[in-house]
Amino acid sequence: MSTLEIKDLYASVETKEGRKQILKGANLVVNSNETHAIMGPNGSGKSTLAYTLAGHPKYIVDSGQALLDGKDLLTMTPDERARTGLFLAMQYPVEVPGVSMTNFLRTSKTEVDGKAPALRQWSKELNSAMKRLRMDAKFASRSVNEGFSGGEKKRAEVLQLELLKPKFAVLDETDSGLDVDALRIVSEGVNRAKENTGLGLLLITHYTRILKYIKPDVVHVFAGGKFVKTGGPELADELEATGYDQYLPEGANSE
Ligand code: ADP
Ligand code: MG
Ligand code: MG
Repeated sequence: MSTLEIKDLYASVETKEGRKQILKGANLVVNSNETHAIMGPNGSGKSTLAYTLAGHPKYIVDSGQALLDGKDLLTMTPDERARTGLFLAMQYPVEVPGVSMTNFLRTSKTEVDGKAPALRQWSKELNSAMKRLRMDAKFASRSVNEGFSGGEKKRAEVLQLELLKPKFAVLDETDSGLDVDALRIVSEGVNRAKENTGLGLLLITHYTRILKYIKPDVVHVFAGGKFVKTGGPELADELEATGYDQYLPEGANSE
């Protein structure tokens, strides 16, 4: 069993107007096999939390820790964080022209595991994962995310998740912009990863509909750069009914 513990995390982003603190004392503990839904108003810092954990250079840690089995991810380079077992599915996956999906996936797998996967086993695994995600075999030779539709990009993120087998994954609005069928296919992929590897999941979402497919154990409200409320699955339904207004600072509204 593994544990990811975010401890009193404060972080800022470099903007044109200077440095702006976004994360203001975030605390969270996630264990293997647990799914935590993170819901909250736009602009509350959910993606900032995801990027800060993954080590995006624009996000600066002011104080706090993110311990994966006691090792502080925040002192590591992004690739060390991945090797330690952290995975991020980005809200807006980046296009990487000139790098094919198969090269990208095999190189990532080799880096994360510290050794190249056995070729035949790897090809089998890749092909069957793509098939289950209803991704045409042609995608393997295309450049990473280049010209992919929104839904295809999200499938490509889940493909990486299934193949890289991290200990913890942050899915940043992986459900946004998906139609019902794509949502189901993507959710099934995430659930397979959970079953096969005992993945611990931080599921950032605006909508309860994905929570019908990926059942959360815990639901959190994230507002103003920190976790402000925690409850069971019923909290998600409550949020859908009431919105986030009660969690916003005086005078603000959610859009
Ligand atoms: P959420 O994902 O909850 O919608 P974000 O983490 O994307 O929130 O954004 C939180 C706040 O930080 C917003 O006010 C946003 O404008 C600001 N922010 C985040 N990243 C950047 C950036 N790279 N440059 C400028 N501002 C940013
Ligand atoms: Mg947002
Ligand atoms: Mg976001």
